[in-house]
Amino acid sequence: MKIVFATHNLNKLLEVKKLLPTEIQLLSLDDIGCVEEIPETGKTLEGNAKIKADHIAKIYGFDCFSDDTGLLVDALHGAPGVYSARYAGAQKNAQDNMAKLLKELEGNGNRKAHFKTVIHLNLADRNYVFEGIVHGHITEEQQGAGGFGYDPIFKPEGFDQTFGELSLETKNSVSHRARAVQKLVEFFKNQTN
Ligand code: IMP
Repeated sequence: MKIVFATHNLNKLLEVKKLLPTEIQLLSLDDIGCVEEIPETGKTLEGNAKIKADHIAKIYGFDCFSDDTGLLVDALHGAPGVYSARYAGAQKNAQDNMAKLLKELEGNGNRKAHFKTVIHLNLADRNYVFEGIVHGHITEEQQGAGGFGYDPIFKPEGFDQTFGELSLETKNSVSHRARAVQKLVEFFKNQTN
């Protein structure tokens, strides 16, 4: 069974490939010759994930899944959410994004937040959605330099360190993305049994 993962990110692709049953041949956007940037015009994570998966199914004719992730901060009514990558501008700079978020939360005692990943799967003209969430809070300043995006300012529940300080292995054992991917993998395992 051939399935496209709507990403150009080789690390994401390999991470998921390792977990899927061997019957599934996972293809990236580059593998199918899709080099264009698929516009993420949705107003929600669910909307954006669906746009990407539908685009590949329609234009390239492949079964496909795509993911979209955001950081949702309680005190900011869910911002930056679907705009997480470009919170501080179109340059999509992680340092700028973290600086803006810390400024927005300055003096605010409510620092609760969660990361959410939505995976949208188009399989044989049916749609499936899988979701992964990790709760935590936003620190007062950056701690650690590991990971990417907002990792240095996000401390997951049950840990004294931020995602920027924790090892990748530890992050992957609790992360939003890992939890959503796990649900997708379980789904495929049931399909191929
Ligand atoms: P994407 O949908 O995976 O491209 O994620 C959108 C944006 O959310 C990224 O550009 C990051 O700013 C942020 N983000 C997603 N996943 C993570 C993560 O695991 N740690 C920190 N930031 C993340």
